[in-house]
Amino acid sequence: MVDERPPLDIEGTSIRIDSLDAWNEHPIPDIKSVRKSEESTMLNPCLCGSGRPFDDCCGPHLSARTIAPTAEALMRSRYSAFATGQADYLLATWHPTTRPATLTLEPGLRWLGLKILSTEAGGATDQEGWVTFVARSKLQGRAQRLQERSRFVREHGRWFYLDGELG
Ligand SMILES: [Zn+2]
Repeated sequence: MVDERPPLDIEGTSIRIDSLDAWNEHPIPDIKSVRKSEESTMLNPCLCGSGRPFDDCCGPHLSARTIAPTAEALMRSRYSAFATGQADYLLATWHPTTRPATLTLEPGLRWLGLKILSTEAGGATDQEGWVTFVARSKLQGRAQRLQERSRFVREHGRWFYLDGELG
């Protein structure tokens, strides 16, 4: 979601705060919190490449505050889990019929980006969905590119990763 609120208007004057010094001169709590969220958008964009802040995208799913409402959202959050080494989340969102007993993430693997190529079904009321994506990573200086069409199923209101075909 792009925040399209108009510039803040305090006592008839538009105030733009550009530095911490400015905070000290104008300690207005409301503005400060707005500014903070703008900073988190800029400094902490979600790893999944959605363009949204992490805290407003995959973050709440990874911390189990919310569940991914669509197959694509689950796909993105699983990518972010790979990128942040959260094997527990990967296992929890893996369908029990195909889930490995344990999951060891390659410690030297760096995830560089995710691109969703297409989605089929996988909406909030669907039972099944597919997400085709490219994930780029680097291991010991060697770039890797994974393209997969992942299959997801929704059971008891939760999406799970079932399996995928490499493409
Ligand atoms: Zn995300």
